[in-house]
Amino acid sequence: MTVLNASTRRPTTWAAPPLDWKVRSVCRNSSTVKADDFFTTSKSGQDRAHAACLSCPVIVECLQATQELDSGTYRWGIGGGLDGSQRFALESEALLGHVPNLGMARVLVSPRWLLRLRDLRGVCGSLEEMTAALREQGLMVDEVTVRVAVWWSGADAPRMAWRRSGEWQSLRARLRGEYLPTILVLKGQGVSSLGIAAYLGIPGQSGARAVTEALHVAAKTGEVAA
Ligand code: SF4
Repeated sequence: MTVLNASTRRPTTWAAPPLDWKVRSVCRNSSTVKADDFFTTSKSGQDRAHAACLSCPVIVECLQATQELDSGTYRWGIGGGLDGSQRFALESEALLGHVPNLGMARVLVSPRWLLRLRDLRGVCGSLEEMTAALREQGLMVDEVTVRVAVWWSGADAPRMAWRRSGEWQSLRARLRGEYLPTILVLKGQGVSSLGIAAYLGIPGQSGARAVTEALHVAAKTGEVAA
């Protein structure tokens, strides 16, 4: 497409694609959230950014566009309601064949369902339990879709079960005992320990170390090939 460059007054053959959805974004039109809030390490700033995203009518479009930009090494800042680690986790979900239904995730954070979602997050012990409870109420959702909705609602949504009745195990033992097959599949797909930790919901360097140690111990004890 040929357009006239506004500053040089010369024709150019490239024009930016239409970005109509951005015109409707909350972050562009709100005075309660600043651009810095999407890139800060401050909890209050991040909370403002997440709250803006939760009320944003273009959260789905924004998440998809942000994920396209993520396809390099960096996943920086909050976009489409998710932080870099959550988007990192979604990449592993996709490698395992779990693709969220973002339209349905939006339904789950609509005024009709949001309170119910938050209640379930408080009483259920895992994504699996939450998903089953929502299905009993007639919502045909899968775990990764619920995971995105819980993230959007402002809570964490690890793949590892988050409530255990009177039982205690070290993180490393849990990783080896329950999640080693998944860890190995993701390792085989070239996902780093940091990415696997993000997928499991134990993000950051300490989570990555736990994954590496679990693999190391499993190799030493012959559970997997070194
Ligand atoms: S989802 Fe969040 S980051 Fe994306 S346009 Fe809306 S408010 Fe901005």
